[in-house]
Amino acid sequence: MANDPFVEMVGKTARVDLPLSDFQPVPQLRVAAHEIERPAWPAIDAHAHLDSIPLAELWPILDASGVERIVNISLAKGAELDEAIRRARPAPPERYRLFVLADWTPLARGESVRAITDELERRVEQGARGLKVWKDLGLTARDARGALLRVDDERLAPLFEKAGELQIPVMLHIGDPAAFFQPIDPRNERYEELAAHPEWSFYGPEFPTWEELLDAQERVIARHPRVRFLGAHVGGAAEDLARAAAMLERCPNLALDFSARAAELGRQPRTARAFFLRYADRILFGSDLLPSPAMYRLYYRFLETEDEYFPYPTHESGQGRWRIYGLGLPKDVLKKIYRTNAETWLGW
Ligand SMILES: [Zn+2]
Repeated sequence: MANDPFVEMVGKTARVDLPLSDFQPVPQLRVAAHEIERPAWPAIDAHAHLDSIPLAELWPILDASGVERIVNISLAKGAELDEAIRRARPAPPERYRLFVLADWTPLARGESVRAITDELERRVEQGARGLKVWKDLGLTARDARGALLRVDDERLAPLFEKAGELQIPVMLHIGDPAAFFQPIDPRNERYEELAAHPEWSFYGPEFPTWEELLDAQERVIARHPRVRFLGAHVGGAAEDLARAAAMLERCPNLALDFSARAAELGRQPRTARAFFLRYADRILFGSDLLPSPAMYRLYYRFLETEDEYFPYPTHESGQGRWRIYGLGLPKDVLKKIYRTNAETWLGW
Protein backbone atom coordinates (compact mmCIF):
# COMPACT_ATOMS: atom_id res chain seq x y z
CA MET A 1 0.00 0.00 0.00
CA ALA A 2 2.87 2.38 0.84
CA ASN A 3 3.80 2.79 -2.82
CA ASP A 4 0.25 2.99 -4.12
CA PRO A 5 0.28 6.22 -6.17
CA PHE A 6 -3.41 6.84 -5.46
CA VAL A 7 -2.96 6.57 -1.71
CA GLU A 8 0.05 8.90 -1.91
CA MET A 9 -1.84 11.40 -4.01
CA VAL A 10 -4.81 11.39 -1.63
CA GLY A 11 -2.49 11.65 1.35
CA LYS A 12 -0.56 14.60 -0.06
CA THR A 13 -2.88 16.83 -1.94
CA ALA A 14 -6.40 15.65 -2.49
CA ARG A 15 -7.67 14.85 0.98
CA VAL A 16 -11.12 16.34 1.51
CA ASP A 17 -13.64 15.78 4.22
CA LEU A 18 -16.83 15.28 2.27
CA PRO A 19 -19.49 13.15 3.96
CA LEU A 20 -19.96 9.97 1.93
CA SER A 21 -23.70 10.58 1.81
CA ASP A 22 -23.06 13.95 0.12
CA PHE A 23 -20.85 12.44 -2.59
CA GLN A 24 -23.17 11.97 -5.56
CA PRO A 25 -20.95 12.05 -8.65
CA VAL A 26 -22.63 12.41 -12.03
CA PRO A 27 -20.90 10.24 -14.66
CA GLN A 28 -19.71 12.31 -17.59
CA LEU A 29 -19.53 9.27 -19.86
CA ARG A 30 -21.32 9.52 -23.17
CA VAL A 31 -22.06 5.99 -24.33
CA ALA A 32 -24.92 4.27 -26.11
CA ALA A 33 -28.03 3.78 -24.00
CA HIS A 34 -30.95 1.53 -24.89
CA GLU A 35 -34.21 1.59 -23.00
CA ILE A 36 -35.85 -1.84 -23.28
CA GLU A 37 -39.54 -1.29 -22.57
CA ARG A 38 -40.63 -4.90 -22.94
CA PRO A 39 -38.65 -8.11 -22.61
CA ALA A 40 -37.66 -10.08 -25.70
CA TRP A 41 -40.11 -12.80 -24.55
CA PRO A 42 -43.16 -12.56 -22.25
CA ALA A 43 -41.47 -12.95 -18.88
CA ILE A 44 -42.15 -14.99 -15.76
CA ASP A 45 -41.03 -13.24 -12.59
CA ALA A 46 -40.20 -16.25 -10.44
CA HIS A 47 -39.36 -14.28 -7.30
CA ALA A 48 -41.62 -11.52 -6.01
CA HIS A 49 -43.16 -10.56 -2.66
CA LEU A 50 -46.65 -9.26 -3.24
CA ASP A 51 -48.29 -9.40 0.19
CA SER A 52 -48.58 -5.60 0.28
CA ILE A 53 -49.92 -5.11 -3.27
CA PRO A 54 -53.62 -5.36 -4.12
CA LEU A 55 -54.00 -7.72 -7.09
CA ALA A 56 -56.09 -5.18 -8.98
CA GLU A 57 -53.07 -2.86 -8.98
CA LEU A 58 -50.66 -5.63 -9.94
CA TRP A 59 -51.98 -6.68 -13.35
CA PRO A 60 -51.68 -3.26 -15.07
CA ILE A 61 -48.08 -2.98 -13.84
CA LEU A 62 -47.23 -6.44 -15.15
CA ASP A 63 -48.99 -5.81 -18.45
CA ALA A 64 -47.10 -2.54 -18.93
CA SER A 65 -43.84 -4.37 -18.13
CA GLY A 66 -44.27 -7.41 -20.38
CA VAL A 67 -44.48 -9.78 -17.40
CA GLU A 68 -46.92 -12.56 -18.19
CA ARG A 69 -46.75 -14.52 -14.93
CA ILE A 70 -45.50 -13.99 -11.41
CA VAL A 71 -44.67 -16.02 -8.32
CA ASN A 72 -45.72 -14.44 -5.04
CA ILE A 73 -43.51 -15.66 -2.24
CA SER A 74 -45.68 -14.80 0.71
CA LEU A 75 -43.86 -13.89 3.89
CA ALA A 76 -47.04 -14.21 5.94
CA LYS A 77 -47.68 -16.83 8.60
CA GLY A 78 -50.76 -18.13 10.42
CA ALA A 79 -53.85 -15.92 10.20
CA GLU A 80 -52.04 -13.42 7.95
CA LEU A 81 -51.32 -16.22 5.48
CA ASP A 82 -55.00 -17.26 5.61
CA GLU A 83 -55.82 -13.70 4.64
CA ALA A 84 -53.17 -13.60 1.87
CA ILE A 85 -54.55 -16.84 0.42
CA ARG A 86 -58.09 -15.49 0.58
CA ARG A 87 -57.08 -12.28 -1.21
CA ALA A 88 -55.22 -14.24 -3.91
CA ARG A 89 -58.20 -16.47 -4.70
CA PRO A 90 -59.37 -14.41 -7.72
CA ALA A 91 -55.88 -14.45 -9.28
CA PRO A 92 -55.88 -16.44 -12.54
CA PRO A 93 -53.76 -19.58 -11.96
CA GLU A 94 -52.21 -19.21 -15.41
CA ARG A 95 -50.64 -15.90 -14.28
CA TYR A 96 -50.08 -16.25 -10.56
CA ARG A 97 -48.51 -18.73 -8.16
CA LEU A 98 -48.13 -18.68 -4.41
CA PHE A 99 -45.14 -19.96 -2.45
CA VAL A 100 -45.35 -20.22 1.33
CA LEU A 101 -42.63 -19.65 3.89
CA ALA A 102 -41.29 -22.37 6.19
CA ASP A 103 -42.00 -21.26 9.75
CA TRP A 104 -39.62 -22.80 12.29
CA THR A 105 -41.40 -21.63 15.46
CA PRO A 106 -42.86 -25.09 16.23
CA LEU A 107 -39.27 -26.32 16.70
CA ALA A 108 -38.54 -23.44 19.10
CA ARG A 109 -41.59 -24.57 21.08
CA GLY A 110 -40.19 -28.09 21.27
CA GLU A 111 -42.60 -29.61 18.75
CA SER A 112 -41.36 -31.95 16.04
CA VAL A 113 -40.92 -31.09 12.36
CA ARG A 114 -44.21 -32.89 11.80
CA ALA A 115 -46.03 -29.68 12.72
CA ILE A 116 -44.23 -27.92 9.83
CA THR A 117 -44.81 -30.69 7.28
CA ASP A 118 -48.52 -30.86 8.23
CA GLU A 119 -48.79 -27.11 7.77
CA LEU A 120 -47.13 -27.35 4.34
CA GLU A 121 -49.55 -30.09 3.29
CA ARG A 122 -52.50 -27.94 4.38
CA ARG A 123 -51.21 -24.89 2.48
CA VAL A 124 -50.66 -26.92 -0.69
CA GLU A 125 -54.27 -28.13 -0.42
CA GLN A 126 -55.23 -24.44 -0.23
CA GLY A 127 -53.34 -23.74 -3.45
CA ALA A 128 -49.68 -23.05 -2.55
CA ARG A 129 -47.31 -24.30 -5.26
CA GLY A 130 -43.89 -23.94 -3.66
CA LEU A 131 -42.04 -23.78 -0.34
CA LYS A 132 -39.68 -20.92 0.53
CA VAL A 133 -36.89 -21.51 3.02
CA TRP A 134 -35.55 -18.16 4.13
CA LYS A 135 -32.19 -17.07 5.56
CA ASP A 136 -33.52 -17.25 9.12
CA LEU A 137 -32.54 -20.90 8.72
CA GLY A 138 -28.86 -20.92 9.59
CA LEU A 139 -28.71 -17.36 10.93
CA THR A 140 -31.44 -16.69 13.51
CA ALA A 141 -33.95 -19.57 13.91
CA ARG A 142 -33.39 -21.61 17.07
CA ASP A 143 -34.54 -24.90 18.51
CA ALA A 144 -36.13 -25.42 21.94
CA ARG A 145 -32.68 -25.59 23.57
CA GLY A 146 -31.84 -22.19 22.11
CA ALA A 147 -29.29 -23.54 19.64
CA LEU A 148 -29.17 -22.09 16.11
CA LEU A 149 -30.83 -24.44 13.64
CA ARG A 150 -28.22 -25.56 11.14
CA VAL A 151 -29.19 -25.39 7.47
CA ASP A 152 -28.41 -29.10 7.08
CA ASP A 153 -29.98 -30.16 10.41
CA GLU A 154 -31.13 -33.78 9.95
CA ARG A 155 -34.32 -33.03 11.87
CA LEU A 156 -35.53 -30.94 8.93
CA ALA A 157 -35.07 -33.70 6.33
CA PRO A 158 -38.78 -34.78 6.46
CA LEU A 159 -39.85 -31.28 5.39
CA PHE A 160 -37.79 -31.43 2.20
CA GLU A 161 -38.98 -34.97 1.54
CA LYS A 162 -42.57 -33.78 1.97
CA ALA A 163 -42.02 -31.07 -0.66
CA GLY A 164 -40.74 -33.78 -3.02
CA GLU A 165 -43.77 -35.94 -2.28
CA LEU A 166 -46.09 -32.98 -2.95
CA GLN A 167 -44.12 -32.30 -6.16
CA ILE A 168 -43.49 -28.68 -5.32
CA PRO A 169 -40.14 -26.89 -5.67
CA VAL A 170 -38.23 -25.59 -2.66
CA MET A 171 -36.74 -22.13 -2.98
CA LEU A 172 -33.74 -21.63 -0.73
CA HIS A 173 -32.53 -18.21 0.34
CA ILE A 174 -29.54 -19.18 2.45
CA GLY A 175 -26.88 -16.69 3.46
CA ASP A 176 -26.78 -13.17 2.08
CA PRO A 177 -24.32 -10.88 0.23
CA ALA A 178 -20.74 -11.66 1.21
CA ALA A 179 -20.28 -8.10 2.50
CA PHE A 180 -22.94 -8.72 5.17
CA PHE A 181 -20.54 -11.19 6.78
CA GLN A 182 -17.74 -8.61 6.98
CA PRO A 183 -17.31 -5.85 9.59
CA ILE A 184 -19.30 -2.65 8.98
CA ASP A 185 -16.25 -0.46 8.50
CA PRO A 186 -14.70 1.75 5.78
CA ARG A 187 -13.51 -1.34 3.90
CA ASN A 188 -17.02 -2.76 3.56
CA GLU A 189 -18.20 -2.41 -0.06
CA ARG A 190 -21.84 -2.13 1.08
CA TYR A 191 -21.13 0.26 3.94
CA GLU A 192 -24.01 2.64 3.24
CA GLU A 193 -26.58 -0.16 2.97
CA LEU A 194 -25.40 -1.75 6.19
CA ALA A 195 -25.26 1.61 7.94
CA ALA A 196 -28.91 2.08 6.97
CA HIS A 197 -29.77 -1.51 8.02
CA PRO A 198 -27.31 -2.67 10.68
CA GLU A 199 -29.66 -5.58 11.40
CA TRP A 200 -28.66 -7.02 8.00
CA SER A 201 -25.13 -7.63 9.26
CA PHE A 202 -24.21 -11.21 10.11
CA TYR A 203 -20.64 -10.49 11.09
CA GLY A 204 -19.47 -11.95 14.36
CA PRO A 205 -18.79 -15.14 16.27
CA GLU A 206 -22.50 -15.84 16.85
CA PHE A 207 -23.02 -16.41 13.11
CA PRO A 208 -21.77 -19.09 10.73
CA THR A 209 -19.55 -17.80 7.93
CA TRP A 210 -20.74 -17.25 4.37
CA GLU A 211 -18.78 -20.32 3.23
CA GLU A 212 -20.21 -22.52 5.99
CA LEU A 213 -23.76 -21.57 5.00
CA LEU A 214 -23.15 -22.30 1.32
CA ASP A 215 -21.55 -25.65 2.13
CA ALA A 216 -24.49 -26.62 4.36
CA GLN A 217 -26.97 -25.55 1.67
CA GLU A 218 -25.25 -27.78 -0.83
CA ARG A 219 -25.37 -30.75 1.55
CA VAL A 220 -29.16 -30.33 1.82
CA ILE A 221 -29.61 -30.20 -1.96
CA ALA A 222 -27.44 -33.30 -2.39
CA ARG A 223 -29.29 -35.09 0.44
CA HIS A 224 -32.64 -34.84 -1.41
CA PRO A 225 -31.87 -35.63 -5.07
CA ARG A 226 -35.54 -36.06 -6.01
CA VAL A 227 -36.53 -32.60 -4.76
CA ARG A 228 -36.33 -29.64 -7.15
CA PHE A 229 -34.43 -26.78 -5.50
CA LEU A 230 -34.30 -23.16 -6.62
CA GLY A 231 -31.35 -21.24 -5.23
CA ALA A 232 -32.55 -17.67 -4.77
CA HIS A 233 -30.11 -14.82 -5.41
CA VAL A 234 -27.68 -16.96 -7.48
CA GLY A 235 -27.74 -19.54 -4.71
CA GLY A 236 -26.16 -17.00 -2.37
CA ALA A 237 -22.96 -16.98 -4.42
CA ALA A 238 -23.36 -14.01 -6.80
CA GLU A 239 -19.95 -12.67 -5.79
CA ASP A 240 -18.28 -15.98 -6.64
CA LEU A 241 -19.69 -17.46 -9.83
CA ALA A 242 -17.09 -20.24 -9.83
CA ARG A 243 -18.68 -21.37 -6.54
CA ALA A 244 -22.18 -21.08 -8.05
CA ALA A 245 -21.05 -23.09 -11.08
CA ALA A 246 -19.57 -25.80 -8.85
CA MET A 247 -22.93 -26.05 -7.02
CA LEU A 248 -24.78 -26.46 -10.32
CA GLU A 249 -22.28 -29.07 -11.53
CA ARG A 250 -22.58 -31.13 -8.35
CA CYS A 251 -26.37 -30.77 -7.94
CA PRO A 252 -28.45 -31.56 -11.05
CA ASN A 253 -31.64 -30.93 -9.01
CA LEU A 254 -30.72 -27.24 -8.56
CA ALA A 255 -31.60 -24.15 -10.62
CA LEU A 256 -30.84 -20.55 -9.62
CA ASP A 257 -32.61 -17.23 -9.80
CA PHE A 258 -30.67 -13.97 -9.98
CA SER A 259 -33.27 -11.82 -8.22
CA ALA A 260 -31.81 -8.79 -6.42
CA ARG A 261 -28.36 -9.61 -7.81
CA ALA A 262 -28.13 -7.57 -11.02
CA ALA A 263 -25.77 -5.32 -9.05
CA GLU A 264 -23.38 -8.19 -8.38
CA LEU A 265 -23.61 -9.74 -11.84
CA GLY A 266 -23.52 -6.51 -13.79
CA ARG A 267 -20.16 -5.48 -12.36
CA GLN A 268 -18.58 -8.70 -13.68
CA PRO A 269 -20.28 -8.78 -17.10
CA ARG A 270 -17.79 -11.03 -18.87
CA THR A 271 -17.79 -13.66 -16.13
CA ALA A 272 -21.56 -13.38 -15.72
CA ARG A 273 -22.22 -13.67 -19.46
CA ALA A 274 -20.15 -16.84 -19.69
CA PHE A 275 -22.03 -18.20 -16.66
CA PHE A 276 -25.44 -17.42 -18.19
CA LEU A 277 -24.47 -19.05 -21.49
CA ARG A 278 -23.03 -22.14 -19.81
CA TYR A 279 -26.01 -22.63 -17.48
CA ALA A 280 -28.73 -21.27 -19.76
CA ASP A 281 -31.08 -24.12 -18.75
CA ARG A 282 -30.62 -23.57 -15.00
CA ILE A 283 -31.23 -19.84 -14.51
CA LEU A 284 -34.62 -18.21 -13.79
CA PHE A 285 -35.61 -14.58 -14.05
CA GLY A 286 -36.82 -13.06 -10.79
CA SER A 287 -36.92 -9.51 -9.48
CA ASP A 288 -37.37 -9.60 -5.67
CA LEU A 289 -38.33 -5.92 -5.93
CA LEU A 290 -41.62 -4.06 -5.84
CA PRO A 291 -43.09 -4.50 -9.36
CA SER A 292 -42.86 -1.37 -11.53
CA PRO A 293 -42.13 -0.82 -15.22
CA ALA A 294 -38.97 1.18 -14.39
CA MET A 295 -37.60 -1.61 -12.21
CA TYR A 296 -38.28 -4.33 -14.78
CA ARG A 297 -36.76 -2.22 -17.58
CA LEU A 298 -33.43 -2.08 -15.73
CA TYR A 299 -33.41 -5.88 -15.59
CA TYR A 300 -34.18 -6.07 -19.35
CA ARG A 301 -31.43 -3.58 -20.11
CA PHE A 302 -29.03 -5.68 -18.04
CA LEU A 303 -29.95 -8.94 -19.79
CA GLU A 304 -30.46 -7.76 -23.35
CA THR A 305 -28.15 -4.82 -24.10
CA GLU A 306 -24.42 -4.23 -24.16
CA ASP A 307 -24.91 -0.84 -22.50
CA GLU A 308 -22.17 0.30 -20.17
CA TYR A 309 -22.15 1.80 -16.71
CA PHE A 310 -25.82 2.26 -15.87
CA PRO A 311 -27.79 1.97 -12.62
CA TYR A 312 -28.89 -1.46 -11.41
CA PRO A 313 -32.39 -2.27 -10.15
CA THR A 314 -32.38 -2.08 -6.38
CA HIS A 315 -34.24 -1.25 -3.20
CA GLU A 316 -34.21 2.21 -1.65
CA SER A 317 -30.94 2.05 0.29
CA GLY A 318 -28.98 0.76 -2.69
CA GLN A 319 -26.34 -1.95 -2.62
CA GLY A 320 -22.90 -0.66 -3.45
CA ARG A 321 -21.33 2.38 -5.12
CA TRP A 322 -20.92 0.98 -8.55
CA ARG A 323 -22.86 0.73 -11.82
CA ILE A 324 -23.41 -2.18 -14.14
CA TYR A 325 -22.84 -3.40 -17.70
CA GLY A 326 -25.28 -5.28 -19.89
CA LEU A 327 -24.82 -8.94 -20.75
CA GLY A 328 -26.18 -8.76 -24.33
CA LEU A 329 -27.55 -12.31 -24.17
CA PRO A 330 -28.69 -14.03 -27.40
CA LYS A 331 -32.41 -14.42 -28.06
CA ASP A 332 -32.56 -18.19 -27.53
CA VAL A 333 -30.90 -17.86 -24.13
CA LEU A 334 -33.24 -15.00 -23.19
CA LYS A 335 -36.23 -17.21 -23.96
CA LYS A 336 -35.01 -19.85 -21.53
CA ILE A 337 -34.19 -17.36 -18.80
CA TYR A 338 -37.32 -15.22 -19.14
CA ARG A 339 -39.78 -18.11 -19.32
CA THR A 340 -39.09 -21.69 -20.37
CA ASN A 341 -36.80 -22.50 -17.43
CA ALA A 342 -39.51 -21.31 -15.03
CA GLU A 343 -42.06 -23.47 -16.84
CA THR A 344 -39.79 -26.47 -16.44
CA TRP A 345 -38.54 -25.92 -12.91
CA LEU A 346 -41.84 -24.74 -11.46
CA GLY A 347 -43.86 -27.30 -13.41
CA TRP A 348 -45.96 -24.48 -14.83
ZN1 LIG B 1 -37.03 -12.50 -1.80
